Amino acid sequence: MPATTLQASPPASSAETIARFERYVIGNYRRFPVCLDHGEGSLVWDAEGNEYLDFFPGWGCNLLGHCPPRVVEAVRDQVGKLIHVPNTWYMGPQGDFAEALATRSFCGQAFFCNSGAEANEAAIKLARLHGNPHGRSKIVTMEGSFHGRTYAALSATAQPKYHAGCEPMLPGFSYIPFDDLDAARHAIDDHTAAVLVEPIQGEGGIRIPRAGYLGALRKLCDERGAILILDEVQTGMGRTGRWFAYQHEGVEPDVLTCAKALAGGVAAGVLLAKPEVAAALKPGMHASTFGGNPIACRAGLAVVETIEAENLLDRACAIGERFRGWFEQLRAKRPDLIQDIRISGVMIGVELAIDASFVVAQSLERRLLVNATHGTVLRLLPALTITDREIDHGCAILAEILESAPV
Ligand SMILES: *Cc1c(COP(=O)(O)O)cnc(C)c1O
Repeated sequence: MPATTLQASPPASSAETIARFERYVIGNYRRFPVCLDHGEGSLVWDAEGNEYLDFFPGWGCNLLGHCPPRVVEAVRDQVGKLIHVPNTWYMGPQGDFAEALATRSFCGQAFFCNSGAEANEAAIKLARLHGNPHGRSKIVTMEGSFHGRTYAALSATAQPKYHAGCEPMLPGFSYIPFDDLDAARHAIDDHTAAVLVEPIQGEGGIRIPRAGYLGALRKLCDERGAILILDEVQTGMGRTGRWFAYQHEGVEPDVLTCAKALAGGVAAGVLLAKPEVAAALKPGMHASTFGGNPIACRAGLAVVETIEAENLLDRACAIGERFRGWFEQLRAKRPDLIQDIRISGVMIGVELAIDASFVVAQSLERRLLVNATHGTVLRLLPALTITDREIDHGCAILAEILESAPV
C-alpha cells in the first residue's frame, strides 16, 4: 500500500493550485486565474465546476474539441499495450500514421517529433544538409512569422520582440516582408537553401496572403534551386477545410511541418519531406527519443478517422462562414471598431481598433474563452465539432461586448 498519494484528495481548489504554481512553477507564462479540470467538445469546466464555452480549445491543439471519443479510446487502448517504443525498433502505429499523412498530402516521408518548434528545427537542419553540398545555407523567412521558441525556430521567427535578450540568434537567416513577391525575388539567391513560410500567419494575426502567393514562391524556389518549406503547425490537419492549407493553392511544398492539432491534443509534431529531399537525412543525423511514439501515432490516426467519418473538412468551411456572418453584422454596426475580418475554415481573426485583450477579459467574465494576438487581433480557433448553437451562443456574447466597446 502506498504511504502517500501525490495527488491531493479531495481535488485542490483553483486557489490552492494557483498558490502551488506561484511557489513551484516558473512564471514564464501569463495565466488566467482559472484552473481547468475537465472538458468535452467545446465545453470545459474549472475545478469549481464552472462551465466555459471554448472558442480557443487547447491553443489550436484540440481541433476536435476536448476529449474527442475516438482519440480517448485509441490512447486508452494503446497505453495498455505499449507506452513507449524507441526508434531503434519498428512499430505499427508510426508506420500507419506516416502512411495516413503521406496519402493525404504530397506523398512526403515523415520524421516524427513532439512539437512545432522541433518539427521546424528538423526542417531547418534538413534544408542545410540538403543545401550545404551546393553552397546553400541561407534560410529566408517572413516578418511577422512564428516558428517556435527553440534557437533555430526562434532565429527563423522574424519578430524582434521574441529575440530580445536572447541574442545572438543563429546565423544564416534572412527576413523579408510577408506577402511581398518583390522582396522574395531579391532575397532568394544561389546561397538560399530554403524559404520557410506559413501559408497563413497564425500567431502573426491570421494574415492570409493574396491568392497566388504560395504558387509564386514555389516558382521562385524552383527557378533559383531553393526548397520550399511550409510551416503548417497551426494551419494543418484540416483547420482551413483541407488537410493542409497549401491544398487550396494547387502547389506542393518540398517540406511541410505540422504539430498542434496533429494528434488531437496529444503532444506530437511531424516533418514531411519529398523523398529526394528526405534522403539527405541519414542514420545518426537527427533523432527524437519520444518522436513517433505509439500513443501519439494512435491518437493522430484517430484524428484522421474522426475527420473523415464525420466529414469535418466540409464542416470547417461552414463553421467559418457562420462566424463570418456574425462578424459582418457587427462590422455594419461598428465600422469604427471592426477593421478587418480574416477567416479560413476554423481559423478566425478579427482586427479591432482597440486592444483585443479587453475582449478576452470581458469574455472570460461571461465564461467564453477566446484569444488575442498581435495586440489588436481577436483570434478564434474553434473546434471542428462545435455546434451551430454553441457558435451562436458565443458570438452573441462577443456581439454584446463589441457593440458597446469604447474605441
Ligand atoms: C505554435 C506554432 C509553432 C510552435 O509550436 P510549439 O509546439 O509551441 O513548439 C510553430 N509554428 C507555428 C505556425 C505555430 O503556430
